[in-house]
Amino acid sequence: MARRLERALVTGGAGFIGSHLCDRLLAEGCRVLAYDNLLTGRMENIQHLLGDPRFDFEHYDVTNYLHVAGELDAILHFASPASPADFERLPIQILKVGSLGTHKALGLAKAKGARFLLASTSECYGDPEVNPQPETYWGNVNPVGVRGVYDEAKRFAEAMAMAYHRHHGVDVRIVRIFNTFGPRMQVDDGRAIPNFIRQAIRSEDVTVYGDGCQTRSIQYVDDLVEGIWRLLNCEYVGPVNIGSHNEITMYELARTIIRLAESSSQIVNRPLPPDDPKVRRADNSLAKEVLDWEPRVPPEEGLRRTIEYFRAELARSSSA
Ligand code: UDP
Repeated sequence: MARRLERALVTGGAGFIGSHLCDRLLAEGCRVLAYDNLLTGRMENIQHLLGDPRFDFEHYDVTNYLHVAGELDAILHFASPASPADFERLPIQILKVGSLGTHKALGLAKAKGARFLLASTSECYGDPEVNPQPETYWGNVNPVGVRGVYDEAKRFAEAMAMAYHRHHGVDVRIVRIFNTFGPRMQVDDGRAIPNFIRQAIRSEDVTVYGDGCQTRSIQYVDDLVEGIWRLLNCEYVGPVNIGSHNEITMYELARTIIRLAESSSQIVNRPLPPDDPKVRRADNSLAKEVLDWEPRVPPEEGLRRTIEYFRAELARSSSA
């Protein structure tokens, strides 16, 4: 077992996944420092933590020089916009946080002797020619396409993390995160699940891009957080895929969400964005082997919980 984690920094700590990680780290007895520039993160995600004396928040852009007073045992680098809609809205910020932000966070890990865990992504596999994707697959990424800003930034971040590991001996972990959903996703972040749920709740048309035959494997956020926690506490550097192996088409996903939301929405087709991966499915056998990890929350159960959250969010924003 690794050394005890007394104090951790989470970059992107007010984001969807970052805020759930803050919750988990605090529950495990860590003190937590969260940095976020609130570009896609939201204070609402961490409001419940602000009174906790073991939690600190800094409104800060981690592409700038990082100074943290005191000891740090772990840095979890989760800062980045991550929705394909952001790839067109925020391309430079995505490239900067993946490159400059990762560099700064690694420099801080080196200075503090902290373990460094990088949030990488299944986007490293691009539009894959191998399905499911094992960690040994090197991917099929278009560097000059619209998705390249995220894919290449994360691939660069992995290369940078491994260089700091090999050259400076930084204790690195890399998690490749597959499609994840749950409470605290932004209702308008543009990804398939938030779009479908928002549209279904409002009885609007549900927009399936292309013919809807493209696939993803979706996991509930609690399962992801469990996988990340296990990776942080084991000695395996990675990369390790954390994702579901259950593949679903976007058409099936839309139908499932309409049914679970008891909605009268109709499905309509919209153009498929460029370079949209045709298939994606996690080969999670390595996570099973080294972390004894598997997804536990059935997708429909996770979707029900997320629909509940979205109903409350939409009611709150319409009454505000
Ligand atoms: N998608 C869709 N309708 C939407 C939003 C997304 O059909 O309103 C499709 C998108 O083209 C992709 C899949 O759903 O094929 C998953 O998209 P998402 O944005 O969730 O993330 P990705 O897995 O592409 O990073």
